[in-house]
Amino acid sequence: MQTVLISGVGRGIGLELCRIFLSRGDKVIGTYRGNIGAALQMLIGPHLTLVELDVTDNVAITELGNKFADTAIDLLINNAGVIGPEGSLAQDIDSQQWLHTFHVNTIAPFQLTQALLPALQQSSKGRVMTLSSQMGSLHRATTGMVAYRTSKAAVNKAMQVLALELTPMKIAMCMVHPGWVQTDMGGADADISVVESAQGLVKVSDQLNMDRTGQFLTWQGEVHPW
Ligand code: NDP
Repeated sequence: MQTVLISGVGRGIGLELCRIFLSRGDKVIGTYRGNIGAALQMLIGPHLTLVELDVTDNVAITELGNKFADTAIDLLINNAGVIGPEGSLAQDIDSQQWLHTFHVNTIAPFQLTQALLPALQQSSKGRVMTLSSQMGSLHRATTGMVAYRTSKAAVNKAMQVLALELTPMKIAMCMVHPGWVQTDMGGADADISVVESAQGLVKVSDQLNMDRTGQFLTWQGEVHPW
């Protein structure tokens, strides 16, 4: 049994991760925004703690860290994300929207990890898994979605830096591409179901240790090219 903190459990991959961990008997602290939808409502029970959090709210992130400073959190999953404005040479991007995408996808995972460090240090197997995307990979040149792509490329770098800093504390950290997943973000035509993706991500998190720290992986546990 472990305690997992997941950001963005209201829908999509975060909701499914929450469901799987609870079904195994793990404890989940899930952050959500706004109303608790019917699907999340059904998961409420003694092993689920829900905390309202907009990940762009710095004060709320600090409060979250303080609230759980004495709780051993074994696994933090930075899942909350936004796809951001389209953006290409032919399409102007609103700079505020681009910055918002950066805030949610890049800065918030860094800040959440920082804030929850005391809780992660309470655990003997503290780990951090951040949802990245193949769309942020520099390996393959592609066009469009420049805000989203840059935010995911940047979160990979930010987390790689953090992974080194967390090494003396024996806290392992990885970035994971969850596949192209049938969620609101991925759309109905995506390659894999949310269940398939989340099952893979849970397995990756189970196998995450110091030997794999700092790596960019796929939802199937393979190394993803940067
Ligand atoms: P969804 O759009 O289905 O869900 C996004 C989640 O993030 C929701 O719970 C949403 O909450 C939350 N969120 C967004 N903005 C904020 C915010 N400011 N504060 C708190 N929570 C927020 O996305 P997915 O489930 O598909 O994606 C999950 C992660 O996986 C993301 O990081 C995404 O970039 C990544 N990913 C997804 C892929 C896919 O194909 N689906 C492919 C590659 C990566 P709310 O309901 O309140 O909006």
